[in-house]
Amino acid sequence: MSESQIWQPLLYELARWERAGRKADFWLRDDDAVEPTTALDRLLALTEKYGVPATLAVIPAFTGADLVERLADAPHVTVAVHGWSHENHAAAGEKKQELGRHRDRDIVLDELSQGLAHMGRLHGPRLVPLLVAPWNRIDSALIAGLVPIGFEALSVFGASKPAALQMVNSNVDLMDWHGTGGCRDHGALVGDIVAQLSRSLDGGDAVGILTHHLVHDEAAWLFLARLFEITVGHSSCRWRGVRELIARTR
Ligand SMILES: [Zn+2]
Repeated sequence: MSESQIWQPLLYELARWERAGRKADFWLRDDDAVEPTTALDRLLALTEKYGVPATLAVIPAFTGADLVERLADAPHVTVAVHGWSHENHAAAGEKKQELGRHRDRDIVLDELSQGLAHMGRLHGPRLVPLLVAPWNRIDSALIAGLVPIGFEALSVFGASKPAALQMVNSNVDLMDWHGTGGCRDHGALVGDIVAQLSRSLDGGDAVGILTHHLVHDEAAWLFLARLFEITVGHSSCRWRGVRELIARTR
């Protein structure tokens, strides 16, 4: 299948939105930032070129002033709290989890509270009080404890559910974690985006693109660039900052 054929289903779906007089919301969540790298430079340059707001999920325990400085001239970027140290506390053979039932609830919430405070001291108004759960997993018993420690929203992967705080989820993951470790098949990704758009048209979540700049191969960068080319400036698409999405669903 040619590159243009691969993207055709997205164009058809956007034409459907156009006929319905609707605008689809997209947002970009990029995980695991800690410090400036050439991969981060590439993400910042690409999103800046297309004017796409980006939310970096930053690991509080290991980040510092270098990242703050790097983001100083990137007004299109907001940061969120990506757990505390992105450490796995699950047993071998179990799905990886930092925010599970493996430790006392108060210890986990205390770490998250420290993470939010640390990120606030570093990033000031660039920080959105959004918790991005490492490995997209969080024990349901912790969720009610997030608002009292200052979080306003939570982001995992998949359809958002009613919760004690707002959910702003990602739903299209670029990477093939269990296969090649590189970008997933572009046709499959377009299929995921179209499926999410279809749910979104019926009142479902915005299209939340999930990226991990540190492990992108060329195919991942190419996919993002092509997606931006098609959607940015399209009359039926809007790339939103996560703050707007949180405010919208409030
Ligand atoms: Zn992560």
